[in-house]
Amino acid sequence: MQKEEEKQKKHIAILGATGSIGTQALDVIAANPDKFVVEVLTSNTQADLLIEQAIRYKPNAVVIGDESLYKKISDALWEHDIKTYAGAAALEQVVEMEEIDMVLTALVGYAGLKPTLNAIAAKKAIALANKETLVVAGDLVTELAAKNRVPLLPVDSEHSAIFQCLAGEFHNPIEKIYLTASGGPFRGWDKTQLESVTRAQALKHPNWEMGAKITIDSATLMNKGLEVIEAKWLFQLKPEQIDVIVHPQSIIHSIVQFTDGSMKAQMGLPDMKLPIQYAMAYPQRIYADFPRFNFLDYPQLTFEKADTETFQNLNLAYEAMNRGGNAACILNAANEITNKAFLDEKIGFLDIARINADCMAKATFVKKPTLDDYIQSNTEARRIAEELINP
Ligand code: NDP
Ligand code: MG
Repeated sequence: MQKEEEKQKKHIAILGATGSIGTQALDVIAANPDKFVVEVLTSNTQADLLIEQAIRYKPNAVVIGDESLYKKISDALWEHDIKTYAGAAALEQVVEMEEIDMVLTALVGYAGLKPTLNAIAAKKAIALANKETLVVAGDLVTELAAKNRVPLLPVDSEHSAIFQCLAGEFHNPIEKIYLTASGGPFRGWDKTQLESVTRAQALKHPNWEMGAKITIDSATLMNKGLEVIEAKWLFQLKPEQIDVIVHPQSIIHSIVQFTDGSMKAQMGLPDMKLPIQYAMAYPQRIYADFPRFNFLDYPQLTFEKADTETFQNLNLAYEAMNRGGNAACILNAANEITNKAFLDEKIGFLDIARINADCMAKATFVKKPTLDDYIQSNTEARRIAEELINP
């Protein structure tokens, strides 16, 4: 009987369990023990938190990226009968475990690509937070998902909003989508003011608490650029069908406009637990006690144009999308290096977009890349970005 009950639940692997999305996903699971079971948890370097999570959620297996921490986790978890692995290859393979129904990709950056492709090849449903995977190789990922009939369920709040607006619309064509953007902590600032902004200022997002990389990407508008490319692949849109509108309150999470001119928007308080839960429970909606939105607390919802003259990264993303091929892979790789260099206080805020643009101009363009081409482009673009930072 117990066994039958366990089978009814969705068995979930969380890649990047110790991060912002990962820990919130575990909160959703803790609130719904009758619906979800944790099958696998992974982290990169946070061994203590991973051990704590493993003891609490009793997964079948855990993986730590940093191999030097393997002994620590295996010593702590062997008596709990939890399998332990380490390294990037283990992360790629663990997603194939038979017991897994769904893989939540909540790890950050290019590192998500191979595990996600492997999970799709193994026919696991994907709850996709790791947008970089679609930016790098959206064509390969969506083709494989279509071939294997694997759903790619968006976790990113804007894409979850679009996905929710499309429920019940079957094949009704989309005219356009509007991705909303908070504008980040430097909305309204000019280039002179931005020249001297610090890491600490950039890490203070007005509406969302997120990991460091995406918080910096939000401040430079790179995050919105990555999301535009993510939307192109998820919803099979042309670049000119995707628009960005700045909405500082982050209440409307995005909008779909259909060919009759009607627009549908999804709204609510900014809380990532909602899109995480929607993706994990899809196609069901399950009860949540998250705080409810009150209209009278927000008498004004406002909208403005994105300042792409000051925040060049959003333009670079459109340029990469229009160019096609490996251009977005190059932009993503450059940005992973410049984002980190800014966090390490090696370059200034405006250098991020400047070096990203230089890197796009210098890296080898490939029109119809294979997976190997993407891997090579990623390596090449990172090297070029490093050279531009340390000439
Ligand atoms: P965090 O930095 O908070 O967490 C990242 C997680 O991935 C951690 O568990 C980290 O392990 C692990 N990790 C980092 N690098 C590697 C690597 N090279 N190999 C294996 N594991 C790795 O990030 P977020 O949770 O903020 O973001 C995760 C993804 O979700 C990103 O792609 C982001 O763009 C996307 N996203 C996030 C949102 C948010 O609100 N946070 C909103 C929408 C999308 P460790 O802790 O050990 O370092
Ligand atoms: Mg988002």
